[in-house]
Amino acid sequence: MSYPDLESRVESVRERIARAAERSGRSADDVTIVAVTKTHPVEAVLAVRDAGLSEVGENKVQELEAKVEEVGRSAVRWHLIGHLQRNKAKKAVELADLIHSVDSVRLARKLSSEAEAAGQRVEGLIQVNVSGEESKGGVEGEEGIDAIAEICSMPGLRIVGLMTMAPFTEDERVIRSVFAGTRRLREDAASVTGFEPAHLSMGMSNDFEIAVEEGSTLVRLGTILLGERDG
Ligand SMILES: *Cc1c(COP(=O)(O)O)cnc(C)c1O
Repeated sequence: MSYPDLESRVESVRERIARAAERSGRSADDVTIVAVTKTHPVEAVLAVRDAGLSEVGENKVQELEAKVEEVGRSAVRWHLIGHLQRNKAKKAVELADLIHSVDSVRLARKLSSEAEAAGQRVEGLIQVNVSGEESKGGVEGEEGIDAIAEICSMPGLRIVGLMTMAPFTEDERVIRSVFAGTRRLREDAASVTGFEPAHLSMGMSNDFEIAVEEGSTLVRLGTILLGERDG
């Protein structure tokens, strides 16, 4: 499988990011594209790298592992973006440069201890659920602040921001309020933890412009770059 129009897709996405950034007085340089290659063959990783994208996201540890084996651990920066089971924490620490889905204190503890055992610190984002949707994982609501503070203090983790997913809806106001709420949570968390995690991982193919307007620094894009997925 090849991705013939990938370069023009990347260019068009970059333009849309630039315009969204401009609308909110931000710099497009502060927004990084994570190309989501899940369910695509390893050729997709090579294609996005050739198109100038060096950050690649996978949502399953097993699939991440298979791709790392084929193209190499340092071929790109690997992002793990999907829910992670604790029994896969060790592998995740080994294979991911940034884990976006630190979605509970229990998982954070496990990741921290695995990282310490490996003599490293793993970079992570705390996944938050500000919409309260039951189907979405993540640290929730106001009790979230305490959980965030606790996770930030774990010795094997280096928390560099928050991640969220907007609900599946056409209603732009709902999407925007989730992204804005996540940005405010980052500010609240900063006043409790004493440091401000820099990153906000927000925005997918259908809502990345709203996310950029609301402060996203990492947009996770699959479909818009690589086309519809089968799986
Ligand atoms: C699949 C996935 C994406 C990319 O979704 P698209 O709509 O294809 O851009 C982003 N984030 C997460 C967590 C995903 O699982």
